[in-house]
Amino acid sequence: MIDFSLTPEQRILQKVAREYAEDILKPVVRAADAEPDPQKGFQLIKPAYEKVYELGFATGFLPKKYGGGGLSNIDVLIAAEEIAAVDPGFGCVLLANGLALMPLVWYGSEEQKKKWLTEACNSSTKDYLAGWLVSEPAGSPGGTANFDHPNPKAGIQVTADLKNGEYVINGRKYWPSSAAGWDMKGADVNTVVVRTDRTKGGSGALSCVLVPRGTPGVTYEPCIDKMGQRLNQNADIHFKDVRIPVENAFAVGNGDLAISKAFTWSGPVAGIAAVATARSAYEYVLKWAKEYTAGGMDPIIYHQNVGYMLTDVAMRLEACRYLSYKAGYYADLYDCENHSLGAMAKIYCGEVATQCVYDCMRVMGVNSYDRRSHPMEKFMRDVLCFPIYDAGNMGMQRRKIWGVLAHPSFNPRAFMDNEKITFTKEMEGIGSVVTRPTAHV
Ligand SMILES: Cc1cc2nc3c(=O)[nH]c(=O)nc-3n(C[C@H](O)[C@H](O)[C@H](O)COP(=O)(O)OP(=O)(O)OC[C@H]3O[C@@H](n4cnc5c(N)ncnc54)[C@H](O)[C@@H]3O)c2cc1C
Repeated sequence: MIDFSLTPEQRILQKVAREYAEDILKPVVRAADAEPDPQKGFQLIKPAYEKVYELGFATGFLPKKYGGGGLSNIDVLIAAEEIAAVDPGFGCVLLANGLALMPLVWYGSEEQKKKWLTEACNSSTKDYLAGWLVSEPAGSPGGTANFDHPNPKAGIQVTADLKNGEYVINGRKYWPSSAAGWDMKGADVNTVVVRTDRTKGGSGALSCVLVPRGTPGVTYEPCIDKMGQRLNQNADIHFKDVRIPVENAFAVGNGDLAISKAFTWSGPVAGIAAVATARSAYEYVLKWAKEYTAGGMDPIIYHQNVGYMLTDVAMRLEACRYLSYKAGYYADLYDCENHSLGAMAKIYCGEVATQCVYDCMRVMGVNSYDRRSHPMEKFMRDVLCFPIYDAGNMGMQRRKIWGVLAHPSFNPRAFMDNEKITFTKEMEGIGSVVTRPTAHV
């Protein structure tokens, strides 16, 4: 039976997340967003983060066995929507913990999980942060989208060479959330995707290594100053002969699969966060439309174009929420192997929510452009991030779905029938090698 109602436990989860977001998070959002120095802005949210950690949302997705909340993917979506409705950048800080630690759940040894996950879930200071370091700086070659490119000179270029039982890491990562930590000395742990084989392409050369805070040779440049989602920190990290014991490595030779699965797990979460951002814009403008007369005698909601546009926004947000739920449900069925549906939720919700926020601005009219009196500009700045972050919708997420669809084994009814699709290395690399017109070479 298809049933969209929440269980009594999920209602409590939603209520706790909503109350937390309204009462604890909301009061710090404005100042943190307005702070010109992104690191100072990040520090302003620390007390709210400590509270969210205490409530269990910072590690709720991790297995109970190690002290996590053992939440299902659907549970995570329910809580994430409430938090992101108040600030999606703050939601991204929580998401980064999952991106960094869920790969360890899927690919780590029992010994590694016991050590690192138990530490994550039992922080006495309640300010524990984990970073997921995939993205690399712009350049030629540079960037991230083609991490699975078959040429070893393309894709991930942070290297980890095995020398005397240690990995020696060199290179630079750019963008990873929370990676510089509260004090620019590092998150508690950074999961770094590195090239452990300089001779192979992305589907054989990549691995994950855990780099704890305080490791010599890791330095942090000032954080990236973003247009939106400013409560989230985005770091610029340099590795110079950083030595890490082999025990800190996992998914050796399968870092490509870890990247795909992590950004698949996060897909519906980012999707619902986009819905949440647009939901807040919609609620604000619906109220405005019921009160504001625009120089006429009646509230603007009684103009047909306003009514139709708000109807379309409400309808699209409902549809997006259902797609995120379906992707979360499918992730729960198959241990987060929701590669296509997860990516679909991320792509579709991010792009539709962006249009919804803009449509809300059009309905509200010129007053939506007044940043002192109204929050619309923040919704717009924040929502614009969704199509481009968390593995961008073009070079990474769409390409992942394309790889699944193009594979000879693909059953087009698999999504509707909830059939398991196993994502394999054969599905990677699609579209990463292109032919330039001879005149351009
Ligand atoms: C708020 C925020 C938080 C973030 N957190 C993290 C984090 O925690 N960890 C992390 O590692 N990164 C993080 N990022 C970076 C983010 O994940 C990016 O999505 C990722 O780096 C990929 O960016 P990109 O797709 O623009 O890649 P790029 O490599 O810069 O590609 C640029 C563009 O080129 C085009 N393109 C490239 N290759 C192809 C192709 N083969 N086919 C089609 N089009 C192509 C696409 O249009 C693509 O968007 C964060 C970013 C933001 C803004």
